Amino acid sequence: MKQLWMCLAVSMALSACDAPVLDTRAPAADATPPVSTASDFAMRAEPVAEGVYAIITPARDFPNPENKGWNSNSSFVITHEGVLVVDTGSSAAVGASLAGTIRGVTAQPIRWIVNTHGHGDHWLGSAALAGPKTEVIAGSKVRNRIRDELAYWVDLFDKMTNGATGKDAKAVLPTTVIDSRSTRNFGGVAVTFIPSGDSHSPGDLLVWLPEKKVLISGDVVYTDRAPVTFDGRVAQWIKFLREIEGLGVQKLIPGHGRVGDAADITRQREYFEMVWNAVEKGFEAGQADFEILPTIKAQAAKYRDSYPDLDKQIGRTVSHVYLQVEEIAF
Ligand SMILES: [Zn+2]
Repeated sequence: MKQLWMCLAVSMALSACDAPVLDTRAPAADATPPVSTASDFAMRAEPVAEGVYAIITPARDFPNPENKGWNSNSSFVITHEGVLVVDTGSSAAVGASLAGTIRGVTAQPIRWIVNTHGHGDHWLGSAALAGPKTEVIAGSKVRNRIRDELAYWVDLFDKMTNGATGKDAKAVLPTTVIDSRSTRNFGGVAVTFIPSGDSHSPGDLLVWLPEKKVLISGDVVYTDRAPVTFDGRVAQWIKFLREIEGLGVQKLIPGHGRVGDAADITRQREYFEMVWNAVEKGFEAGQADFEILPTIKAQAAKYRDSYPDLDKQIGRTVSHVYLQVEEIAF
């Protein structure tokens, strides 16, 4: 599956990708490209609820030279016994900048880190945030990816950013694995971990703060970008979005995009349902994915305001859904 991420990512960066093979076109000539430093990122801790902050990147893309690898959101929760951080960015420098941003709000130690999923833009910064006593929490499939894929992600992002993310990220292996829904008290704050059933990617874990009505969704919910589906299971994703629509979310911190609310969950579920139903209908009529696409694009027009990159993503999503519809049919 990781080759697909790579293909997608490289195709977005370089505009062509016919096969799931690493595009090795070298980044521009500089022999020693500058590695970004923590001070390259203008981070701000945005208050979302009492003791809950989001650090939202302005980027709406994959890691690239312009965003220097800061392309994903992080968040943190301040408790009586320390800070819980969710997702740690794409590089050591991003992680260091996150640590500095958190320190600007609280002197409490970082006691817990949650990695919502296995894509490198959500865990490569962990070493800058974790101390010897920090407990790191993730799903077992995510722990395995963190164990196995450090070199892959470091190399990929280094290429995609022309060296800005550098090679100095270290993997911090999760010490606590969570694969089923459970609630735990962290320094007086109730936290419910909700696995998505591999909706967006294998091992996704969402963080729900029931007392604060805040959902930290990782990449399971997108707010102002079309969802990226290469590593997901869309039928399960629709079912799961329906489930979390029942939580009573007031604030949503996504893995990418602005802070949102329950309406973002419903929009994404309806968008996926529209795509799924149209693909199924076309498939049953014997059409290929590219033949179905124009009809779906017309039906998707109403999502364009919310998802400005819709036209870039929807063709891929139709292809992914087509394969999944086909799989069910046979
Ligand atoms: Zn992501």
